[in-house]
Amino acid sequence: MSGDGGARRTVAFIGLGHMGGPMAANLAGAGHRVRGHDLVPEALAAAARAGVEPAGSAAGAVADADTVITMLPAGRHVLDLYDTLLPAARPGTLFVDCSTIDVADARTAHERAVAAGMRALDAPVSGGVVGAEAGTLTFMAGGGEAEFAGAGPLLDVMGGKAVHCGGPGAGQAAKICNNMILGVSMIAVSEAFVLGERLGLSHQALFDVASTASGQCWALSVNCPVPGPVPTSPANRDYRPGFAAALMAKDLGLAANAVKAGGVQAELGLRAAELYAEYAERVGAAEDFSGIVRTIREQGGECA
Ligand code: NAD
Repeated sequence: MSGDGGARRTVAFIGLGHMGGPMAANLAGAGHRVRGHDLVPEALAAAARAGVEPAGSAAGAVADADTVITMLPAGRHVLDLYDTLLPAARPGTLFVDCSTIDVADARTAHERAVAAGMRALDAPVSGGVVGAEAGTLTFMAGGGEAEFAGAGPLLDVMGGKAVHCGGPGAGQAAKICNNMILGVSMIAVSEAFVLGERLGLSHQALFDVASTASGQCWALSVNCPVPGPVPTSPANRDYRPGFAAALMAKDLGLAANAVKAGGVQAELGLRAAELYAEYAERVGAAEDFSGIVRTIREQGGECA
């Protein structure tokens, strides 16, 4: 433990799913007292096996906590739950929401927490389930300096890096801007591979050139959408995630909302959101988002 001298904290952790389960387990493993709650009994039981104290209700979990961490599917879950949690928590409790939610919802959650006498931070993550299990997540935080510092010892346990991005909602803003780059670049890389196929260019040749030239990006050099050039990429295991198409569609939907609300000219971001929404409608969480290369290949027309 670090930051505040390694003090043992009492943490309420609500939402013990794919991400929250291992995050809570890592906090318990580091010696913090973690009281967990989830609506799904199996999730609660799995967390209990990993050292989390199961709480029968969300309000019961937060009653004597100094920090409340939420890891929930969407903004409406966070806002609904805050209605229950805020009256049950002690004044001054630090609320850290790690879910990926709308920037506007994050700001509303922050305002409600502060109005109830609490402290608040939005701290969405990247790194996926693998990062959650390994404790190597990257946190993107929005809120005050003091709140960021207060969460630091816990973020250090669950992640390898935490960036303070600015005031309330700035963490969510960083997350959706990053994932808009990722969604657009995965489509661009996939289109280039399919074009290369039509032009008689091998996947390896295009990879060898682009990965060391100006086309280089994470979507190409780490999560390469065609099998072969990067043996660890999901394309080599029939597109098992990885980062599920449904999650990319969700994040691009949040980005598209923000683009429209802000009157931003972001044609590629909006188009990427449409393409991923269609693709995720078919494959859901079963495929990695790089599998969109197959849709691009299949939907292509005949040679002119
Ligand atoms: P998940 O569906 O596996 O987990 C969410 C959990 O919240 C579920 O177990 C659900 O039962 C619980 N829950 C919902 N409402 C509740 C309530 N009122 N009280 C108690 N528990 C409640 O989802 P996940 O994959 O763990 O993702 C969680 C968040 O992290 C999402 O916002 C997601 O966008 C984000 N995220 C996920 C990944 C990933 O790779 N899975 C990566 C980065 C960010």
